[in-house]
Amino acid sequence: MPEPASPVPEVATTCPYCGVGCGVLVKASPDGQTADVRGDPLHPSNKGRLCSKGSALGETIDREERLLVPLVRGVETSWEEAISLVADGFSRTITAHGPDSVAFYVSGQFLTEDYYVANKLMKGFIGSANIDTNSRLCMASSVVGHKRAFGADTVPGCYEDLELADLVVMVGSNFAWCHPVLHQRLLEAQCKRGTRIVVIDPRQTATTQAADLHLPIRPGADVHLFNALFRHLAQTSARDAAFVASHTNGLEAALTAAGDMPLSQVADVTGITEGDLRTFFSWVETTSRTLTVYSQGVNQSSSGSDKVSAIINTHLVTGRIGKPGMGPFSITGQPNAMGGREVGGLANQLVAHMDFAPVDVDRVRRFWKAPAIAVRPGLKAVDLFDAVADGRIKAIWIMATNPVVSLPDADKVRAALEACPLVVVSEVVATSDTAKLADILLPATTWGEKSGTVTNSERRISRQRSFLPAPGEARHDWQALCEVGRLLGHDGFDFQSPAQVFAEYAELSAFENADRRDFDIGAHANLNEEAYEKLQPFQWPIPKAGKRAGKGDLISHRFFADGQFYTPDGKARFIPTPARKPGSAVSPDYPFIMNTGRVRDHWHTMTRTGKTARLSTHMAEPFVEIHPEDALCQDLDVAGLARVASLKGEAILRVLVTNRVRKGEVFVPIHWTDRYSSQARVDALVAPIADPHSGQPEFKFTPVKLTRFVADWYGFGVFAAEPAMELLAALDYWALARAPGGWRLELAGSGNMSEAVSALIPDTDAVSLQMTQDGMARALFDDERLMATIKISSQGPVIADRAWLAGQLKASHGPDSRFAILAGRPPSGKATGRIVCSCMGIGMHAIQAAIAAGAANEQNIGKATSAGTNCGSCKPELRTILESMRADAVRVGKVTAE
Ligand code: SF4
Repeated sequence: MPEPASPVPEVATTCPYCGVGCGVLVKASPDGQTADVRGDPLHPSNKGRLCSKGSALGETIDREERLLVPLVRGVETSWEEAISLVADGFSRTITAHGPDSVAFYVSGQFLTEDYYVANKLMKGFIGSANIDTNSRLCMASSVVGHKRAFGADTVPGCYEDLELADLVVMVGSNFAWCHPVLHQRLLEAQCKRGTRIVVIDPRQTATTQAADLHLPIRPGADVHLFNALFRHLAQTSARDAAFVASHTNGLEAALTAAGDMPLSQVADVTGITEGDLRTFFSWVETTSRTLTVYSQGVNQSSSGSDKVSAIINTHLVTGRIGKPGMGPFSITGQPNAMGGREVGGLANQLVAHMDFAPVDVDRVRRFWKAPAIAVRPGLKAVDLFDAVADGRIKAIWIMATNPVVSLPDADKVRAALEACPLVVVSEVVATSDTAKLADILLPATTWGEKSGTVTNSERRISRQRSFLPAPGEARHDWQALCEVGRLLGHDGFDFQSPAQVFAEYAELSAFENADRRDFDIGAHANLNEEAYEKLQPFQWPIPKAGKRAGKGDLISHRFFADGQFYTPDGKARFIPTPARKPGSAVSPDYPFIMNTGRVRDHWHTMTRTGKTARLSTHMAEPFVEIHPEDALCQDLDVAGLARVASLKGEAILRVLVTNRVRKGEVFVPIHWTDRYSSQARVDALVAPIADPHSGQPEFKFTPVKLTRFVADWYGFGVFAAEPAMELLAALDYWALARAPGGWRLELAGSGNMSEAVSALIPDTDAVSLQMTQDGMARALFDDERLMATIKISSQGPVIADRAWLAGQLKASHGPDSRFAILAGRPPSGKATGRIVCSCMGIGMHAIQAAIAAGAANEQNIGKATSAGTNCGSCKPELRTILESMRADAVRVGKVTAE
């Protein structure tokens, strides 16, 4: 009998996480609570690959914790009532205090259609440019660098360049964890054509594992390094005199500003040895196909714009731009950071790559029929929240972002919102740190429910398609904005679908353009609903006059191959970049430099990735990574707890002692919020020091001090039901994460441990209890099912096989295995260790056993254990474990170094 046709179609959409912009194929379960997800083999950006985060998307779509109805000061109300209160609040504020007394703060998680309507409403009709986006925190310095050099915010190259380059220089990017699918494309190219990889990063990371040369630069010294490289290239045969003469301006001034520091001094300033500097310079000098890939380590700096310009200078002096396998390449963090740049989501842009030049303002005014259009830039994110704090902004609408966690000086941001007369938040959950401060909380749709477009780092616009209905009263952000626009009495907000928004946007991109502006998608200006539904991924530009010459939409495209730029004279500009120190400095009181960044399996503030046990196993707790000698000097125990404090705030974090960070520097991940940990909002420690040109904050250089966090006892537990927040709040320290079938909890406290344990697992007949000399263990079973267990130690962090214990909620337990639960260790031979491969759930012990049994590379480890055989994101870590075990074996004389 033929199989019945599946009632649920597979939908082609786009991953909502990073700026790689992978295509995914999704088939939701009939109840819409889970989905099968696979990489789209036809999407040109990922060609079927997904990383661990993308692979787990199907586990994040359930409606648990979803906000389903509007809340006005905590009280449920109808959508109509809530949205008219928003419009009324904004209207009264504008009437009383003028348009600059209100603001929108939006997000790189927005779809382009949401962005377009938000920008049109605020800049076009409210008449203020006080709309900024969290993309300000991600890539605003790249925008400045591009515009200064090219006359437009143009990314010259495309992902294919990773496969065509002979030398890839990665700057300030843990590519392997933050853009894993591109990293895999690069590693394949390395295998096939022997691409050389240089990684410039203060830390050893999963990315440096694959580097031919790792340059462990001192934090903040990038301009020194690239100025020195620029001078070197200008003095060698790598200088393309013809290109410089015909297509650029300003070389001599830039060379003068770059200075003439001798190599020994460059080595001192950058912390890179003279030998490594020589090797690096000579590789760049002799490799025409050099691609410089950079990301947040460059952008998130008080001199981020100059770092970008210093990189671009090295490509202009060699003419290495716009051709296959070469050029500067900014990789964005967020899924639609590029879309936000295109649509004018930043306060200092207008729309469609136009600015506030009078001619641009006039053009957009006529197109939008918007007489009240803003005529000058608005406040950038840090300044915008300062204006909320000092009362200049009295009404703010925050959409799809969590500034109480992600902005610098985050405690001040929280206080500012607490004092603001009207805070509107559009969110998918009511539990985000920012949502808790909303006067009016609007339920928004999310990935899977939304429909629109996003642009990835190579200028490729892809459809994000819905495959689930909007739950409850949730509405799309563009719809909510249109409703407020109409209630405020403005024309131009009668869009009925995202296709109509996109068509207007495409028309505007082509309006009076004639190739004077880089961003032109005029070919899609008249797109109807059906064509929009079927729209295939394409790279811009794609002007009205017809598709780009060549081979259709899927072919990669580069700008500037003809040496023509978007400056008034058509020439690129060298930008003088005298090196500056970071905005703050270490001191005897704050002697460590704190760097911040991402971990492999979490995204931003974990509102989505925090929902899956699979993604919570790799790094289940916020941590501070510190060098062994520093840990010793600060009296910090391995796996103990530390209080990390700056002049602005403090956090309590698990101590991760490694030699991947250098002495004097520590690394802390950005993801943890008050939802998942007692005190780990790391951006509360970061000072609001921003780049003077881009307004992008300096997240990578915060002076901090570390002290031992002393508790009377430490614990670890797993629970079938989530522990109540009131119970957690009574603890000195806690960190919560999903486990298969429940939750896992790290905790520490003072006073009577029994009382704390009894509060979390109340006394009943079903409780098993074990007291030891220095601690206790308690477990609650319902027949054969483990409902909760805690193990407590008064002698320091609990020793337990956490991954194994976290997996026991779904197992059945006879009397024998209850002892193992209380002991926190599996019966012999079943130990898991830390989970390394989250897709396949493979722990450290199995991987070490495979290596000990002879697996000599990642492929063989995969064959033996299945680790790394799905998305491959853990392969760099498998290599690290392999090399570490090999080094140990050499050290003890078990094998020879060969
Ligand atoms: Fe999503 Fe991973 Fe692709 Fe980024 S690399 S878009 S997180 S699947």
